[in-house]
Amino acid sequence: MNCMKNKTKGIKIMKKMIALILTFILVLGVYALGYPQNNLDIQYKDDIRGNEAIKYKSTKENKLDITHQIKEVIEIKEDINSNIQSNSIKPDLRLYDLGVEPGCSYPFAARKDAVLQYTVANFKNCDCKDVEVGVKIDGELFHTFNIGDIPAHRGYITTFTIGNYREGTYNVEIIADINNIIEEEDETNNSDSGNFTWIGTPDLVAAEWRDEGLSVYEKDKKYDFYFRVDNAGTGVAKGETIVYLINNGDTVAQWSFIDFPENAYFEKDITLRFRDEGDYNIGIVVDKENKISESNENNNSIIKKYTAVESYGTMGWEYMYNNPNNRYISSGYGLPDRPDHYGIDIISSNSSVDHIYGDPIENVCPGTVELATESPTAGNYVVVKSDNIDPITGNNLRVRYLHMKGTPIPRQGDIVSKGSLVGYTGNTGYVEPLPTPSNPKGGTHLHFDVNNKAKTGYLTINDTINPELFFPLITFSGKTSL
Ligand SMILES: [Zn+2]
Repeated sequence: MNCMKNKTKGIKIMKKMIALILTFILVLGVYALGYPQNNLDIQYKDDIRGNEAIKYKSTKENKLDITHQIKEVIEIKEDINSNIQSNSIKPDLRLYDLGVEPGCSYPFAARKDAVLQYTVANFKNCDCKDVEVGVKIDGELFHTFNIGDIPAHRGYITTFTIGNYREGTYNVEIIADINNIIEEEDETNNSDSGNFTWIGTPDLVAAEWRDEGLSVYEKDKKYDFYFRVDNAGTGVAKGETIVYLINNGDTVAQWSFIDFPENAYFEKDITLRFRDEGDYNIGIVVDKENKISESNENNNSIIKKYTAVESYGTMGWEYMYNNPNNRYISSGYGLPDRPDHYGIDIISSNSSVDHIYGDPIENVCPGTVELATESPTAGNYVVVKSDNIDPITGNNLRVRYLHMKGTPIPRQGDIVSKGSLVGYTGNTGYVEPLPTPSNPKGGTHLHFDVNNKAKTGYLTINDTINPELFFPLITFSGKTSL
């Protein structure tokens, strides 16, 4: 019998252990699958997690904003509780009935006006002159105001408004004759106090999502991103606030805080790498499960679409100049000082134009010459239809060489190889400064652009790609936009 019992016990323990092991495997599995990295790699600039990473926008301290108003004058008929005779020559100020003004909703809303009410009255047959009233909050005197004279046997029902208070419970005390100037029959009944509560509502906001502002993102390259989440409401987001980094609907990282305070924010620098070509919908969502009740539930996410393309840098294009000085960009691609400039203007890093004027320009990619001509603005120029297909538009990429000295070397329809001579660097067409007899080489530069919209001219920034991306081994100086 004992043996049987032990056996049954043994089987039970085995079953329990198997269940435990299974649970363990399951938990591990969930952990591993928890953040599907899918086709996005994430790196963090720092790895601070939790509350220490929260910052404050500014010190938004409680600021008293008190106004007061005499609502009603009352008559004190008789002082039945006092054994002091009513013909006393001293007055007796009393302050009582401190509470929420009838009709004012309570608990008070944080940062909004809260109206309290009290009664101050003179119970004796002698006037009180210039009565000063003081307001203390949590024991600290914040404000005094003069309610004027209170004649014998008169009282005032007075309201006062406290504005802009932060979430919390505070002790409010009102004191008549705060500086104890009036000589009274009884000096011990001049104040009333109570605890009052202000309740706030948090508002979690996906406040900012910043990328590198590029029109094209290449796969396998790293890009910097930044985001910020604010609590822009009037109260603490109580419990756990979770910020999710989302890619195509999946959570790829998350950060959480306990009790995210009013006026606080969380920001993060991250580096992302697109591992595949295609579309990515990336951004942040705060409080995805909607666990926190907020004043505005519609500002909790920012998601942006990115298209990652095959790296332009792997197309094997060769830079058009052999001279290592000719890598200085005098006007960059889509930079703030000239946002509609859709190519790069190349000059020599030696400041004199002499150092690039006449330098041979070699074709950067194999292709076919689509145009070899001249115009008043582009001067002598060549358009090459590259053999390379753009992964976004499916068009053959086009490159253009502008402002060349003399007639282009190849002719329209010629098949050109990488490294074949296109022409010589010059200053034809519209250049700045325009050449003059005394400065015949003025304005010399090569304008080079790449477009993926099958255009030979009339380009805009939206038709083009930053040419610097095609030459990953070249280090440009000047107005580079990489
Ligand atoms: Zn240009």
